[in-house]
Amino acid sequence: MALSGVEIFKLLPKTNCKKCGHPTCLAFAMKLAQRQATLDSCPDVSEEAKKILGEASAPPVRPITFGSGDKAVKMGEETVLFRHDKKFVNPCAFAVEIKDTLPETEMAAIAERVMQSEIDRVGQKLRIDAIVLSNASGDAGKLEAAAKVIASKAAGVPVIISTKDAGAAEAAAKSFTGKRPIIYGVDSSNAEAMAAVAKANKAIVGIAADGLDELAALTEKVKSLGVEDMVIDSGARKAKEIIEHNTLIRRAAIKKNFKPLGYPIVNFMQREDGLHEALVAAIGVAKYASIIVLSSIEKWKNLALFTLRQNIYTDPQVPMQVEQKVYNIGEPKAESPLFITTNFSLTYFIVSGEIENSKVASRLAVMDCEGLSVLTAWAAGKFTASKIAQFITESGVEKEIAQKELIIPGYVAILSGSIEDKLPGWKITVGPREANAIPAFLKTRT
Ligand code: SF4
Repeated sequence: MALSGVEIFKLLPKTNCKKCGHPTCLAFAMKLAQRQATLDSCPDVSEEAKKILGEASAPPVRPITFGSGDKAVKMGEETVLFRHDKKFVNPCAFAVEIKDTLPETEMAAIAERVMQSEIDRVGQKLRIDAIVLSNASGDAGKLEAAAKVIASKAAGVPVIISTKDAGAAEAAAKSFTGKRPIIYGVDSSNAEAMAAVAKANKAIVGIAADGLDELAALTEKVKSLGVEDMVIDSGARKAKEIIEHNTLIRRAAIKKNFKPLGYPIVNFMQREDGLHEALVAAIGVAKYASIIVLSSIEKWKNLALFTLRQNIYTDPQVPMQVEQKVYNIGEPKAESPLFITTNFSLTYFIVSGEIENSKVASRLAVMDCEGLSVLTAWAAGKFTASKIAQFITESGVEKEIAQKELIIPGYVAILSGSIEDKLPGWKITVGPREANAIPAFLKTRT
């Protein structure tokens, strides 16, 4: 159980020396309890207190880095059950399964699709994050050969080696030395041998349990064998089980600080039907999965799941924003149109996307309105005539354009007169209310 501020205070030196940057030991203790400070800020804390506080202040879901380099996936570190309490920390990873029974050309083709899966959405790079290499053949030699194909065709992509055979895991792991793979398939029959392979290859252990009781027992067993980093699968496959098990696991870890279940969850979502698979995967995204295993990569499915993940893992208290400045869309000339909008990411990307679609090179002035959309910013007094005039004047865009004309969003047509008053010599044109009307609007001007 996490310690309260007062319990933490009892373990501190109580000298109020301020070396930690806080006025008193009690103030520091309160910050520690809220996870807004770290113990290493106090140089005088005793070794015994460090041990107790270190354990108590560890995140309830163990932080683990899967893979290495640019494509490494961070998991765990979650501290809440609901994202309205606090932001979820590490977005879940999507992994696609590649069976070692497939012909090499097909394995290479899937690996290629993983490498090509990245898209840019509202300024973030989203992709299929990992590959599950499964030993469907049951043959160690085939798994080893498949591992070599994946290592060469999907270099840098984190890999889960899925097998119950420690010898096969050992052979396949050699292709991912130094890449922090997961060795999945650890159960009560092979725990010792698989833990030994994981330790020797600096791999993460993937527990494959049959139910929550066995899962808790297995994590304790593997930990006693000297492996700290694990991902856990309770065996849930049906949608109802996935919700139940994932919720019980997260609740036990966060509310009860129950360490045997304080690990990132892996869920296997493969279904015959793609739509069914996407729906079940969506449950995992919303309900605590850290790795979601899919059967195939399809662009429509990726887009739906990436979008959902992005929305679940944004901070609900902080709107997504882009930098305030005048953006060039295409290669605008002096006579090109100048639009203005707010810096809410979604607004920016929709408006800039529609200007791009129009094929009319333009300038887009994006004004800092604390990440609010146009109407909300206007209602909140952040997108007003005087603020727009000040931004346009300070941006210096006037020097780049031939005619001083500013196109404002149709939803704030009411501002046109007052902006003209604040920006003498400028013509204010009311643009479309909806961004998807921008291409037609620009066509009428040519
Ligand atoms: S540095 Fe340590 S002893 Fe000094 S005020 Fe902070 S918590 Fe107390």
